[in-house]
Amino acid sequence: MGDSDSRLDWASNYGMWSRRNYLVATVGIAALSGCLGDDDEEGEGGEDLPSGVSQEEFESGPVPEVYMSAMSLGGEQRDPDDLNTKADVSFAEYEGAQEHSAHEPGRCCANCGDYIPDKNGDEFGACAEVEGYIDGEDWCTIYEELPEPEVPEGMSEAELATAEVPAEYRTASSQAGEERDPDDLRSQEEVNLMESVEAIADDIAMPGQSCGNCAEFIPDKNGDTWGACAAVEGYVAVEDWCSIWEHVSEEL
Ligand code: SF4
Ligand code: SF4
Repeated sequence: MGDSDSRLDWASNYGMWSRRNYLVATVGIAALSGCLGDDDEEGEGGEDLPSGVSQEEFESGPVPEVYMSAMSLGGEQRDPDDLNTKADVSFAEYEGAQEHSAHEPGRCCANCGDYIPDKNGDEFGACAEVEGYIDGEDWCTIYEELPEPEVPEGMSEAELATAEVPAEYRTASSQAGEERDPDDLRSQEEVNLMESVEAIADDIAMPGQSCGNCAEFIPDKNGDTWGACAAVEGYVAVEDWCSIWEHVSEEL
């Protein structure tokens, strides 16, 4: 993502507004966690396990077939025969991760290059480097920062927020099947678009929220590592976040 400083300045100017949306997002998360079916089991860490998944499977896999050799947010292909155990990498939920000396504020699986977002609607994703089920708000010691996309040729950084996106994105469907209507989009300023790591570190967003696991995100289609959004105009990076974030699981 580019122009993060100006986005942060904007965020501090509109702190009150952002926090109101943070509350909306929090309520959304609470409502979402209440969506799990009655059949779901509670795991040792207090998390709701996906229906029919044992604690052992949750920790060590195997994960469902759809994740087995899937591509991560950073373009890493998962190899089921070459994974770390969660214990090897001090895997923890965000709250526990904050007590680890290697953890930096705002970093979580949802903005890690190895994360594979939910693909089957059970609220959990997977990881290209670590075995078992993974939630966007988790973290581990081999966290990998997503590379910042380069400003496309012939465009300035300042233009990214309002630029018309390449043709292949204009009426594309998001990763959760939402069709983009170029005549019905919010501006990046209106939705407080910023980097996910910064938004979480500043308590504007909840751990686990990023464009990469948002229902509206349209992943890279032309190899320039930028994506787009079915609800917001301009270039959008996988590690970004905005105030109308919606968990991809809600639409799967
Ligand atoms: S932080 Fe660790 S567990 Fe989470 S996605 Fe990245 S490498 Fe995987
Ligand atoms: S709605 Fe916001 S969080 Fe979701 S993909 Fe679009 S810009 Fe990112």
